[in-house]
Amino acid sequence: MTWRDLRCGEVRPEHVGRRLTLAGWAATRRDHGGLVFIDLRDATGLCQLVVNPERAPEAAKVAHDVRNEFVLRAVGEVVPRAPEAVNPNLPTGEIEVQVDELEVVSASTPLPFQLEEEGVDESIRLRYRWLDLRRERMQRNLRLSATVVAAIRKQMDELGFVDIWTPSLTKGTPEGARDFLVPVRLQPGRFFALAQSPQLFKQLFMIAGFDRYYQIVTCYRDEDLRADRQFEFRQLDLELSFPEREDVLEVLEAAVCASFEALGREAPARPFPRLSWEEVMARYGSDKPDLRFGLEIQDATEATRGSEFGVFAGAPAVRYLTVPQELSRGELAALEELAKEWGAKGLAYLVYDAAGEVRSPIAKFLSAEELEALRPADPGSTLLFGADGPAVVARVLGAVRAHLGRALGLIDREREAFLWVIDFPLFEWSEDENRWTFVHHPFTGVVPGHEELIESDPGAVLSQAYDLVWNGWELGSGSIRIHRQDMQQRVFRALGMSEEEAREKFGFFLEALTMGAPPHGGFALGIDRFVALLAGEGNIREVIAYPKTASGSDPLTGAPSEAPEEQLRELGIELRRPPGQGS
Ligand code: ASP
Repeated sequence: MTWRDLRCGEVRPEHVGRRLTLAGWAATRRDHGGLVFIDLRDATGLCQLVVNPERAPEAAKVAHDVRNEFVLRAVGEVVPRAPEAVNPNLPTGEIEVQVDELEVVSASTPLPFQLEEEGVDESIRLRYRWLDLRRERMQRNLRLSATVVAAIRKQMDELGFVDIWTPSLTKGTPEGARDFLVPVRLQPGRFFALAQSPQLFKQLFMIAGFDRYYQIVTCYRDEDLRADRQFEFRQLDLELSFPEREDVLEVLEAAVCASFEALGREAPARPFPRLSWEEVMARYGSDKPDLRFGLEIQDATEATRGSEFGVFAGAPAVRYLTVPQELSRGELAALEELAKEWGAKGLAYLVYDAAGEVRSPIAKFLSAEELEALRPADPGSTLLFGADGPAVVARVLGAVRAHLGRALGLIDREREAFLWVIDFPLFEWSEDENRWTFVHHPFTGVVPGHEELIESDPGAVLSQAYDLVWNGWELGSGSIRIHRQDMQQRVFRALGMSEEEAREKFGFFLEALTMGAPPHGGFALGIDRFVALLAGEGNIREVIAYPKTASGSDPLTGAPSEAPEEQLRELGIELRRPPGQGS
């Protein structure tokens, strides 16, 4: 017995007259009072089966009991469809199979949702993921993901990168998230951390002389889950020895373009634009701006320096967006709420109406010259202001800009806007911890000439870090690294780390830096984000086979779950609260 001679989606007019065995799922079953039509589906597509009780009475009996998603095996003859029954939208639409034998290989209980049903609750989809993954959307997304990963591997291989595996069970790696800890039975009281990234391992590969390393690696970060974040996710992780920044960027551009081409899509134009962090923060208020629309932030700090309006006159930065519409009071109130969520005290505005008149509670505080200086080129516009420290103004206007881009339909959906953000600051001040902290990670190199500022003016030090951004999503980060031990120690010190702490956490790495460390640099590209955008999905859960929900659980397996007492004892773990009594 054979299960199948061809796959369902492969049957063509050239097979007419052949007797075939097919196997697959019953996608639909239509009983036409005698004739039963079944669309048999497998990974390649659908083929229509026709069961005629006159031709095959036994098969007709079986067909009568078939329900959606039963697994069937059918033997029959390929025949042409009657001209009026031809379906030009289906690759198998010119033929059908007249069934002689039909077998239910595996039945299905009534389904919790129909495969073609729209709007099924996500927790149900994840709970019955095996059914959800049968759906066309998920089949398409996971196959697309596989195509992209294969294209990236091929490209990396062609560029001479060596694929080397690194451990998941390791020591904490500082990537700005919490570690997942793993207790160790053989050493009760001790824990591994799951790797947030292979950062130090890949730097050690450079010291070990591998020259070009890559890996498609799973990383683990304990942080709040969002549309573009999961506890575990995949990265294209890579590192090069003796690179200029441009060498690294070119490798990533090649990997991105190879992915587009593997999907039969036109690759974005290379090189991608490179904009400094300072510039994107000033113009777009974000370090991952969506460049598919304009709505750039403009500066009015100088123009309002001597203003009668104290809020403007006294603010370190006065900047604004020019919205090409007269916004209503209701719209302005909603935008003010949004601005407040992002840390603004309010959202001053000036509406220049179609007749050129200015409407605004603050207009009376501004001089005629100021109102003229601010007058937009097009009447019927609204100016939205941020007046505060530059960081707050950027954050607020950046959020308002992103919101308006979507809400006003300004985004050019035909465009693919890639860009590199370069020249990030090395440190940022942490109000919570009252100390300098790193912007990327503590192994990021310093822009030559800025070394002396590390101690004297940490906030002014520029780093050799770069981010890749696509349509407003950060796809990944990288940098030219520190390769000298003395410099690495200076950066640790600037981060408030004592020598002892540095030795305890990174002693092995500091030691390696003393034994012939070449200049090196690299990058990590978030595969799931990249694939989600390629698939046109707004959430990475749609391209991950078994994701966690926003609350961090897996409805499919029920994980995470409590551990048996015996297992905890072996691990030397005593819970503060007995199981089942919550946190
Ligand atoms: N380790 C960094 C990350 O995971 C990437 C890098 O610097 O190469 O984001």
